[in-house]
Amino acid sequence: LPAIFEPARPVLQKIEEAGFEAYFVGGCVRDTILGDPIHDIDIATSAYPSEIKRIFKRTVDTGIEHGTVMILDHGIGYETTTFRTESGYQDFRRPDNVTFVRSLAEDLQRRDFTINALALRENGEVVDLFDGLGDLHRRLIRAVGDPNERFHEDALRMMRAVRFASKLDFVIDQPTRTGIKANAHLLSKIAVERTRVELEKMFLGQNPPAGLKDFLETGLYRYCPGLANAHQQLSSLLVNGNGWKLANTEQVWALLAVQLGLSGREAAKFLRTWKTSNETIKQVGKIILAVNALRHQQVTPDLMFKVGWPALSDANQVAAIYGWQRSIGDLKKQYDALPIKTARELAIDGRTLIQEGGLKPGPALGKVLNTLVEAVVNGQLANEKAVLLERAASLK
Ligand code: ATP
Ligand code: MG
Repeated sequence: LPAIFEPARPVLQKIEEAGFEAYFVGGCVRDTILGDPIHDIDIATSAYPSEIKRIFKRTVDTGIEHGTVMILDHGIGYETTTFRTESGYQDFRRPDNVTFVRSLAEDLQRRDFTINALALRENGEVVDLFDGLGDLHRRLIRAVGDPNERFHEDALRMMRAVRFASKLDFVIDQPTRTGIKANAHLLSKIAVERTRVELEKMFLGQNPPAGLKDFLETGLYRYCPGLANAHQQLSSLLVNGNGWKLANTEQVWALLAVQLGLSGREAAKFLRTWKTSNETIKQVGKIILAVNALRHQQVTPDLMFKVGWPALSDANQVAAIYGWQRSIGDLKKQYDALPIKTARELAIDGRTLIQEGGLKPGPALGKVLNTLVEAVVNGQLANEKAVLLERAASLK
C-alpha cells in the first residue's frame, strides 16, 4: 500500500475492531492501482454515522444525511461514508433517497464505472465485483450494470465517462458508448454547474482531445449551453497538434471562447450561461485579449499591463495549441521590464496631484492619472514624482 494510505490504516482497523467493515473506495483505489498520484482518500463502511461517531472522539458532520462523516485523526480528516444504495431517481438526476445498507456489494453496485467500483481493505486486499481490475488493465470505461439504466438514473454519469476518458486516457467501452449516444439528451436535465465541473475536468485531463472526441461523437455537446451548434469549431481542436494540455479552468474557458470565435462580450455571456463566477469571467476576458495579442504578435507594454502576468502566462499556454505561443522565458522578461506593474506603483497619486499639482478632484483627475500611467508603462515618461507633476501640469 502506498505511503499515503499508512496514516489512514489505523482508522480502518479501529472501525473493524468495533465489529464493522471499512474499505478504501473510489478514485483513490483506482489511481493507486494505475500508479497515479492520489489527492484524497475516501472510506466506505458498514457502520452508520452514529456508530462512527461513537467509535471516534473527533468527527465533523460533513454530509450526515448522505452518510458522510469526517473522522479527524492526528490532524488529518478522513471522509467516511456509510454503505448505501440510492433509490427513487427522478428527473434523471441524483436520487431522492439514500438508504444505508450493511453490504459492501450493494454500495459498489450503485457506483458509476467498474474502475470506480473497487474497494481496498486495510491489509491490501482488493474487492473487485465487476472486473474493474480487468478494465483498468484494458484501459476501459465501462458502466456498472446496464448502461441505459445507469444513465437514466443519473445523466451526469455520461459526462463523467468522457471526463475519465480524458483524465485517464482510457477508451469508453462500446455498450457504454452506445448507452451515452442513446441518452445524451438527458444531460439537459442536469444542473449546469455539475455538467460544468465534468467538462472542465475533461479539458484538464491527460488527453483532452480523446475526451473531446467522445464528447462530440456521443452527441453530449448538443445538450451543453452555447455548444449545440459548435461541432465544427470544436472538432478542429482535435487536429490542432496532438496531446495539448491545459493547466486551469480559466485556460479551459479561454480556449473555448477563442475556438468559438467569441468577442469579449460574447465570451462573458457564454460563461454566464455556464454559471461561472464573476472572477472567472473577468480573468478569462483578460486571457482572451492576451491570446489575440500573441496571435497577432502585438504584445505591447500596454496590453501586458492591462492583463497582468497570470493572464499572460495562461494565454501563452492556450496560444500554444495554435502555435501562436512565445517562449515563456522571453515573455516573462518582457513583462518584468514593465516600468510599473500596477497603477499603485506610480510615483504619484491623486492626492499629491491635488495638493501639489493644483488639480481638482473629479473625473478629469482620473483621466490625468490614466494618461500618466499609460505614458510610464510605455516608457515615455520616467516614473518620478517631479516628472509626473510637470506632465500633469501640462495636461490641466
Ligand atoms: P477524482 O479523482 O476526480 O476525484 P473520483 O473517482 O474520486 O475521481 P468523485 O467524483 O470524487 O470521483 O467520486 C468518488 C466516487 O464516487 C467515484 O469513484 C464513484 O465510485 C462514485 N461516484 C461519484 N459520482 C457518481 C455518480 N454520479 N454515479 C455513481 N457513482 C458515482
Ligand atoms: Mg474523488
